[in-house]
Amino acid sequence: MDDQQLWSLGDIRLKALLANLSFEGRIVLTDLLSGYRKAKESLAAVVAAVDAAAVCRECEGQCCQNGKYRMSVLDALARVVAQTPTSADFAQKPVCPYGDETGCTMEPGLRPADCVLFICDAIDQRLSPQARSILVTQEQCLRECIQQASSMTGEQMAIPLLLWAEHGGK
Ligand code: SF4
Repeated sequence: MDDQQLWSLGDIRLKALLANLSFEGRIVLTDLLSGYRKAKESLAAVVAAVDAAAVCRECEGQCCQNGKYRMSVLDALARVVAQTPTSADFAQKPVCPYGDETGCTMEPGLRPADCVLFICDAIDQRLSPQARSILVTQEQCLRECIQQASSMTGEQMAIPLLLWAEHGGK
């Protein structure tokens, strides 16, 4: 099975997972995903405040090469629940399948957690102690969301969606 087929299979499995949740489970998950999204937005805001866009322009987004495994099960589930379709083109390798010539196609709150958590050296040098403290707190929040979602669904939410689809979930 190629990546595009695995992506489609992952999408089908995510929808089946959601369909199997109880009404209460769905409410808990929606609430959890709201926190997951807010934590990502907070992380991205800290980085944006030090003009990360200028740094990324200069290096032409090297950290966004070969990004196909960045989308975890929970990241993809968050997009399904938010009813935000993901554009994924695995033929444009080494450019990330979720990006295009203008950069990432996803808003920060619905971007893969690995992407919003990654801080390159050039950006790291611009961070104040206060900014670092916010990053630590929000990273912890993301990790807790992943752990809780994994416990409630019985699935490993941190693994890449493509691998999860390939191995039939769990
Ligand atoms: S998902 Fe977006 S931010 Fe992450 S590697 Fe791909 S293009 Fe870059």
